[in-house]
Amino acid sequence: MDLRYTPEDEAFREQVRSWLAANAPRAPLRTTEEKRAWHRKLYEAGYIGMGWPKAYGGREARPIEQAIVIEEMARANAPGSINWAGLGLVGPTLIHHGTDAQRERYIRNILLGDEIWCQLYSEPNAGSDLAALQCRADIDGDEFVVNGQKIWTSTAPDADMGILLVRTDRNAPKHQGISYLMVDMHQPGIEVRPLRQITGIQDEFAEVFFSNVRVPADNLIGELNTGWRIAQTTLSYERGGDTMGIVARLQQSVERLLQITARPLPDGTRAIDDPLTRQKLGQIVAEVEVLRYASLRIISTLEKGNQPGPESSIAKLHYSEMDKRVNALILDILGPYGQITAGAPADLAHSPDSMDSDHGNWPYLFLHPFAETIYAGSSEIQKNIIGERVLGLPKEVRADRMNR
Ligand SMILES: Cc1cc2nc3c(=O)[nH]c(=O)nc-3n(C[C@H](O)[C@H](O)[C@H](O)COP(=O)(O)OP(=O)(O)OC[C@H]3O[C@@H](n4cnc5c(N)ncnc54)[C@H](O)[C@@H]3O)c2cc1C
Repeated sequence: MDLRYTPEDEAFREQVRSWLAANAPRAPLRTTEEKRAWHRKLYEAGYIGMGWPKAYGGREARPIEQAIVIEEMARANAPGSINWAGLGLVGPTLIHHGTDAQRERYIRNILLGDEIWCQLYSEPNAGSDLAALQCRADIDGDEFVVNGQKIWTSTAPDADMGILLVRTDRNAPKHQGISYLMVDMHQPGIEVRPLRQITGIQDEFAEVFFSNVRVPADNLIGELNTGWRIAQTTLSYERGGDTMGIVARLQQSVERLLQITARPLPDGTRAIDDPLTRQKLGQIVAEVEVLRYASLRIISTLEKGNQPGPESSIAKLHYSEMDKRVNALILDILGPYGQITAGAPADLAHSPDSMDSDHGNWPYLFLHPFAETIYAGSSEIQKNIIGERVLGLPKEVRADRMNR
């Protein structure tokens, strides 16, 4: 493991930092057009699909360079790409398993952000146990006919295309009867119903219903009934994640936390003067540092051309649970003022002058990390992976398979 940055890495970081200083949007991007324009700008600067092969429009950047871009974007508070699923999941899956015709048709549009993708995996009764999925596709001539329901589909309200797991053989064992399709989200028979989240946001994810939706056979990735294996490729990219970006965001949260504790609270006291709070802060600062080294370990593995193993589960479990703890501590320190949301009556929202710039954000920042502990494999699932594959503990015994 080598955790040092070379002079070239540092020069690259400077270049990314100045580009972001000159180009990153100053205000939140509200419309899809604004988000697409920012995506296109990132692409033109060479910061989209950086690690992909040159043959597919990437620049074969080293993992450390990709991590530097992610880290600097988080530091600059710059918005990410509009095409999270396209870039993070579909592109790599097509590069591994697609046909030349499929790569030709889709990859450039993914890079340009011209087609936005979503991931249609989870169903009401198939989340952690994804292989239990029931959405079905029947073959009719040179088309599949899809019927069923998906849920928790991020970006579905804006998506042009989706990767869809369907059951194509109901008699095969559950992992063997699944196929992997690409579906045009604008065709008849697809209904997208946005779901309101606990944060109040309503356009982030949705339920998706399929009624006799016709998908051309050319949209099958890989062979019929081999979708489970292909889905594993996609999931390995999803779980690898951008831990360095998350560490950078956590460092910002800790920075904010330190500033808050040093400010006078409405009753005139300062949280930093309380020994118990200082102890909690010390613990959090140390944990972020541990996570930073864990992320560097993953990058070091990638730099040597190896794939990170179950250690990415350790990083995922650590950062998601920690994000929850950091934001819970902030609310703890702010007390009732931390609960003021944007849109609260002005007199209430402005009463604690010492916290003016942060109004309305804390409840969102407290609630959002709960999602991190669920998507890409919940914390309990990560613990199972760590227990079984890292620590070598016996496999879990599912309650429904126990002799009672
Ligand atoms: C913000 C967000 C975005 C998402 N985006 C997408 C998306 O774009 N596309 C998509 O397909 N899905 C998406 N998901 C869905 C996500 O993948 C599932 O929510 C997740 O896999 C958990 O499944 P579930 O919700 O059905 O919960 P369940 O699997 O029913 O789990 C319920 C509880 O039981 C626990 N549990 C389950 N099995 C075990 C076990 N074997 N051992 C111990 N504990 C267990 C879980 O940890 C959890 O606490 C998203 C979810 C969220 C929160």
